[in-house]
Amino acid sequence: MPYRAPVDEFRFLFDHIVGFGDVTGTPRFAEAGGETTDAMLTGAARLCEEVLAPLQRVGDQNPAVLENGVVRTSLGFAEGYRAIAEGGWVAGSAPADYGGLALPQTLTTALNEMMAGACLSLQLQPLLAQGQIEALHAHASDDLKSLYLPKLIAGEWFGTMNLTEPQAGSDVGALRTRAEPVGDGTYRITGQKTYITWGDADFIGNVCHLVLARLPDAAPGTKGISLFLVPRQIPDAEGNPGQRNSLRVVSLEHKMGIHGSPTCVMEYDGATGWLVGEENGGMAAMFTMMNNARLGTGIQAVGVAEAAYQHALAYAEGRMQGRAGGSGAIVEHADVRRMLASMKADTQAARAIGLSCAVAIDMAKATGEADWAARAAFLTPISKSFCTDTGIAVANEGIQIHGGMGFVEETGAAQYLRDIRVSAIYEGTNGIQAMDLVGRKMTDGGDAAFRLLDEIAQGAEAARGAFSDLAQAVWSAGESLRETTEWLLEQDAETRFAGAVPYQRAFARVLGGHFHLKVAVAAGTGPRVALAAFYILCLLPEHLSLLAHARDGAAVLSVSPGDLAA
Ligand SMILES: Cc1cc2nc3c(=O)[nH]c(=O)nc-3n(C[C@H](O)[C@H](O)[C@H](O)COP(=O)(O)OP(=O)(O)OC[C@H]3O[C@@H](n4cnc5c(N)ncnc54)[C@H](O)[C@@H]3O)c2cc1C
Repeated sequence: MPYRAPVDEFRFLFDHIVGFGDVTGTPRFAEAGGETTDAMLTGAARLCEEVLAPLQRVGDQNPAVLENGVVRTSLGFAEGYRAIAEGGWVAGSAPADYGGLALPQTLTTALNEMMAGACLSLQLQPLLAQGQIEALHAHASDDLKSLYLPKLIAGEWFGTMNLTEPQAGSDVGALRTRAEPVGDGTYRITGQKTYITWGDADFIGNVCHLVLARLPDAAPGTKGISLFLVPRQIPDAEGNPGQRNSLRVVSLEHKMGIHGSPTCVMEYDGATGWLVGEENGGMAAMFTMMNNARLGTGIQAVGVAEAAYQHALAYAEGRMQGRAGGSGAIVEHADVRRMLASMKADTQAARAIGLSCAVAIDMAKATGEADWAARAAFLTPISKSFCTDTGIAVANEGIQIHGGMGFVEETGAAQYLRDIRVSAIYEGTNGIQAMDLVGRKMTDGGDAAFRLLDEIAQGAEAARGAFSDLAQAVWSAGESLRETTEWLLEQDAETRFAGAVPYQRAFARVLGGHFHLKVAVAAGTGPRVALAAFYILCLLPEHLSLLAHARDGAAVLSVSPGDLAA
């Protein structure tokens, strides 16, 4: 389907809103600004619009299939993937010492959004590779790094992440896959993993699985989990894919969406693996990959939201119904404009939140400052959840704008929703993200949260001269959020968890107001200001009901499982 990469939007956000200048102002990322950024954005946009976008419908209508143990991928995906790899778009932020470009995560996040907006099913693979590269670079031995990283970075080989088992979903600590030391530095991996994204493909030289498993006598739960690199083919002395390992794809899942992405049930039958990181330190090592993938998942949803919005707008401009003036197209109707404005304003808020998380990641890397690392950690669950909730809501609204034609598959409006629905489920469900936010991410006594709230207050104060009403609305939303944050910190874990999801949403809503206000100030006048006013006056007030809900944990907890079954 036609897709226009929002390059100007990225330029505007980089230049005025999310602090990308701070990133390129550091010695580590000094070469990434100006022309490099521009060349990357325009080059990736061309790839997305011309090569990847035409594959999106093809993947939906011609799903990957398993044939005699081989995963046959959707028509054109091999060529599309090759174009991604040859252009150097698999892993822009990968370290230079292994052949990467060492670009800021902020820029890679923008590139990921465009690729996902163009063809989500295919983009999932580079996203996983990026996470694996980061995890191996941080935790693997030098030998493993030298052997695997150049191939993964060049896109010659794939990377996957293997956590989930039938009895171990959100509760990763329940996994049973075993790892037995062989005595020569390798391990035999045995067990079954489910839902493994891009577990295999007919066009790739090798597939490198990162697998969580238990050593003999390991402690129960997450403390007894180790991480292993298990390649489909064991590299020979020259580093080429050699002998086939003892693993196979048992079946592919039949899914609601992302049909072009093969979701595999994997069986490891004494497969040879190499330890990554410390024995029993698997969760810490895997978290490097998961954190990367969490922001990446959020940004996927922003890409799909952008694509769904473009699709819905084009339809609304062309569909004549119930003349309300002007051209007679449905875009003239107030309610249709409300829907389109919500879609656009929320997509922009989500994009700014995701990019600001990426900026924090870059600044933490470039400066080594703990405050930036804490901000990145705090913004990760918010970005993952708000962006994916937004992607789903926007795709859903896109169907509504199409009327009956939205429910009919030919228009393609439904595919966006079918594809992106899973984003609130994988990489840790949005409920698990919220518990992480109000639990682990607040063990600093709320420092990271309060620093953000201070920034929101300062931004609102600075905007009072130009936009007093909007500034007051954002300032007061920030203060309500501060009060609830202070209250939350005094609650026990169960009460926090009961209100975690509405709190997480409220935080994102308010952050969205903060960024829209910055946009209004930077733009001064015109369509950006109109959209910012719409967000702040019509969408931001939702934070009040969300905060009320967050504080009503007792009401949630008073509904027992028995009450629900009554
Ligand atoms: C298309 C697709 C691709 C995937 N790709 C991969 C992959 O590449 N690698 C991989 O390892 N996995 C992958 N997954 C698995 C995915 O990460 C899991 O589905 C997800 O973690 C949720 O686990 P579950 O499905 O077992 O749900 P469950 O854990 O059973 O959760 C069901 C519901 O209960 C809630 N819940 C569970 N525990 C708690 C709790 N403690 N407190 C509050 N609520 C709770 C959840 O939020 C959810 O709403 C994929 C899944 C899909 C559908």
